[in-house]
Amino acid sequence: MDLTYQRKNVYQLADDAEKKRIAEYAEGYKAFLNNGKTEREVVTETVAMLEKNGYKPFELGSKINKGEKLYYNNRGKGLFVLRAGTADLAKNGVRILVAHIDSPRLDLKQVPLYEKADIAYAKTHYYGGIKKYQWLTIPLSLHGVVALKNGKKVTICVGEKDEDPVFYITDLLPHLSQELSKKTIGDGFEAENLNLIVGGMTVSGEEKEGVKKAVLAHLNKAYGITEEDFLSAELEAVPAFKARDVGFDRAFLASYGHDDRVCAYPELTATLEADTKQTVLTILADKEEVGSDGNTGMQSSLLVDIIDTIAASYGVNAALVRSKSMCLSADVTAGYDPAYASAFEEMNVGYVNKGVTMNKFTGARGKSSTNDTSAEFIGYLRGVFEKAGVVWQTGELGRVDLGGGGTVAKFIANMNIDTVDMGVPVLSMHAPYELISKADLYAAHKAFAAFLL
Ligand code: MN
Ligand code: MN
Repeated sequence: MDLTYQRKNVYQLADDAEKKRIAEYAEGYKAFLNNGKTEREVVTETVAMLEKNGYKPFELGSKINKGEKLYYNNRGKGLFVLRAGTADLAKNGVRILVAHIDSPRLDLKQVPLYEKADIAYAKTHYYGGIKKYQWLTIPLSLHGVVALKNGKKVTICVGEKDEDPVFYITDLLPHLSQELSKKTIGDGFEAENLNLIVGGMTVSGEEKEGVKKAVLAHLNKAYGITEEDFLSAELEAVPAFKARDVGFDRAFLASYGHDDRVCAYPELTATLEADTKQTVLTILADKEEVGSDGNTGMQSSLLVDIIDTIAASYGVNAALVRSKSMCLSADVTAGYDPAYASAFEEMNVGYVNKGVTMNKFTGARGKSSTNDTSAEFIGYLRGVFEKAGVVWQTGELGRVDLGGGGTVAKFIANMNIDTVDMGVPVLSMHAPYELISKADLYAAHKAFAAFLL
């Protein structure tokens, strides 16, 4: 008997049939990625998926019946999927899966348009943690909504179809970069210079701001909007890349926004497929990348309100339900990258192809601001995953005192719910084009499905 702890490689354990399932599963995920690049688009595509599977919307405070399949659409940016189970709610609580569907990006400002040197630009304010230089000289698409005074909403999506134009941020040519090269990566690229090129033709005969006016004329013709309408718009610039297989063997998948759709997708498939009697609440959250504040973030009272609604319907005390509930905070973690080995502690980091990764804690500077999951809850999950044949590993967000980060786990745990972080290890996390292993994606699906039983 081997008494040592060893990570296992998914492909080493998989037979041909399992390898085929891993590859096929990634195809569904690719479509999910390409159809939903923003939180709003993911909600829209998920609602369609749910309705096809017989799910219906519900209201807070409504009567929920055992066996019902429901969803709650939170302002078009977050989603709660509910399977009302027949199991004893007072004993088992709710099985909660939560992933976030917002990703780092460049948001247009409220007065974005200007022109300089006969080029029309849109000013941006970045959202989430980005390395600014990565967003230069790549094709960007623009997604979002413009809410009009009359209550109507205009949806915009430009740059995703092959025939669409894209948007672009310039960089300085290497020939003239001697001064720029002396600056640090942190200092060399200024946020106020992350401005999208959005046009270049001027209005004939127009002397002042002709290029900007030409862009406004186009927007007015295409969408019926004026410059003032940007005041009530949410427009997000994201990479226009499609998800692509990587490597001769197609083991990896590159895409924008794996963080955290790579957990949202297996969460959803596990929820749709699970043959379970438990009450299941699967959450797609917004605003994780900026601290989970606001009414679409996980710090809002909505989760408590929904558990109250379920508990009242079942005639059980809501605080008791929360105390018996369990949550997998499904979020990505840093995968070990041999090119940057010194950033990691090799014994305690997640490795690609070695399965879905559990982080007992996150945080920074001595586990500050973390949900440090109890040994007991992890012990329970080890049993669940072993029984289901899930390949999983333990991980940590980089070596101690290098940096750190957080997830929504602590906000759920603060509601008196046992919670642990579990997700797919990512290489180049928060880059415009991130990398994951298809084997780890499929392992996440299996882990989430086993948790719901
Ligand atoms: Mn994340
Ligand atoms: Mn993130």
